[in-house]
Parts: sequence; structure tokens; C-alpha cells
Amino acid sequence: MCYNCSDFFHSARNCKCKPRCIKCNGSHETRMCNIKTKIENPVCINCKEIGHLASWKGCPKYPVIKNNTPPTYAQKLKSNLQKPNYTPTPSKNNPTPQIDNDTYEKFIKNMNALRIINDASNKFPNLIEISEKIKIAKTDMEIVGLLLKIFKTGTGTIYIKSLINSIDQNYETM
Ligand SMILES: [Zn+2]
Ligand SMILES: [Zn+2]
Ligand SMILES: [Zn+2]
Repeated sequence: MCYNCSDFFHSARNCKCKPRCIKCNGSHETRMCNIKTKIENPVCINCKEIGHLASWKGCPKYPVIKNNTPPTYAQKLKSNLQKPNYTPTPSKNNPTPQIDNDTYEKFIKNMNALRIINDASNKFPNLIEISEKIKIAKTDMEIVGLLLKIFKTGTGTIYIKSLINSIDQNYETM
């Protein structure tokens, strides 16, 4: 591109044309232009499109050079938009409730216990009622009898067997 007239296929050295500025289309060389800063949305003096200067290889009026297909303006715009935009994420710690590990473990254990009891009471609807009776039971045999009652409404004899086993073990260790 000619520095003098901003036309193609010749250099400013052998230019006979009137100077032409690609920034303002004025009658001066581009480097003599009053506009020194980058223009936000320049108007191309060759194709009249907004958004590029005539020196841009993607301009429709820019001479096509073999094996060097210039990107279309849309492509360039796209690639500009796709530039990774690193927004620094604040490294500030998210405020998390400060629970010490002991309290937390106890909490989890309690939650598990509650869940187990809840599951059990779903399987054995009279569990709560019978446990109330166990509280006021006077003898071990009374307790065992009440415990066995739980499983009469339960889901099978397997529970009775395992219960009796655990009772036996408890009696052995007593
Ligand atoms: Zn020229
Ligand atoms: Zn100018
Ligand atoms: Zn253009």
C-alpha cells in the first residue's frame, strides 16, 4: 500500500497521485494525519465499511494475494470476540460456618442415629409406643417381651431371630 495516496500496487516513491489519508480521507499522507490515536469505528476510504481502515487485509477492496486469503471482517470480529477474557475471580474465601470437627462428627452421628430410628419406626409403627412402655418396664423379661412385640407388626421373623441373638449376647456379657 502506498504511503502517499494509500492506493495499492505501487510505492510512495513513484507515486504521482494526490496524497490520501486512510484515517480521515483528507489530502495528506496517513502519517501526517492529525488523528494520532486509534479510531474506534473508522470508515474505510476504499469500501466505505465501518470498522476498519483501508490498510486492513480483510477489506473487500484490499487486493487478494494468492495463497493468503485474508479473513473476512466477520471472522476477524469473531476471533476478537473469542479472545479469552480473564476476569480475575476474587480469591476471598467464601464465608463458611466454622464448626470444629468434634461438633461436626457428633452432629453426623446424631443425624445417623435419628435416621436409623426413623427407618426403624417406619418398619415397626409401634416402636415408639413400645419404647415408652420399656421405659416404665420393671423387669428384664418384661422388656424382652415388649421388644418382641415390636416385631409382631414388623416385616418378618428375621428381626426376631437377630434380636434374640443380641439379647442372648447381652445376657452372656452381663
Ligand atoms: Zn500512491
Ligand atoms: Zn487524515
Ligand atoms: Zn475497506
